[in-house]
Amino acid sequence: MRFEYCPFCGKKTILKEIGDEGQIPYCEDCARPLFDMFSTCVLNVVVNEDNEVLLIRQSYGDTSRYVGVAGFMKIGETPEEAGAREVLEETGLTAESIRYIDSAFYDGRDQLMLGLLARVKKADCDISGELLEAKWFTFDDAVKTVREGSIIQRFIIAAEKEMG
Ligand SMILES: [Zn+2]
Repeated sequence: MRFEYCPFCGKKTILKEIGDEGQIPYCEDCARPLFDMFSTCVLNVVVNEDNEVLLIRQSYGDTSRYVGVAGFMKIGETPEEAGAREVLEETGLTAESIRYIDSAFYDGRDQLMLGLLARVKKADCDISGELLEAKWFTFDDAVKTVREGSIIQRFIIAAEKEMG
């Protein structure tokens, strides 16, 4: 998102040359540059000890599509903390380890997606009300099940490589 109005005082921004950054929206009253804003989300590839990948179907939007366990980061969280929180909230599973693997920018939604590999113990999921289903897949089936060319597909492939 590019700021046309100052989010602090509401004044219309101007464009101002800011160092090496070029022309940046600027509030003359607050004397502050307003760099483009976007949301940061975590997208987990949840894997168990049998090397199966957990995919979910949400109870809103496209309910037929399998996707990864994702969510918006909160202020003050690291990506790993946000990833573990989302896995626990949505599936009831506790991540035993979690680490960053890859990132992608979701253009249509102005979201920076951080891909994480979350290792969990295989167990029945206690799914949140936001989910219809959580299901384990082999890596090959998971890659084929998610939407072709999607960010989760790319992260699943990256996670498999990372694990060797
Ligand atoms: Zn202002």
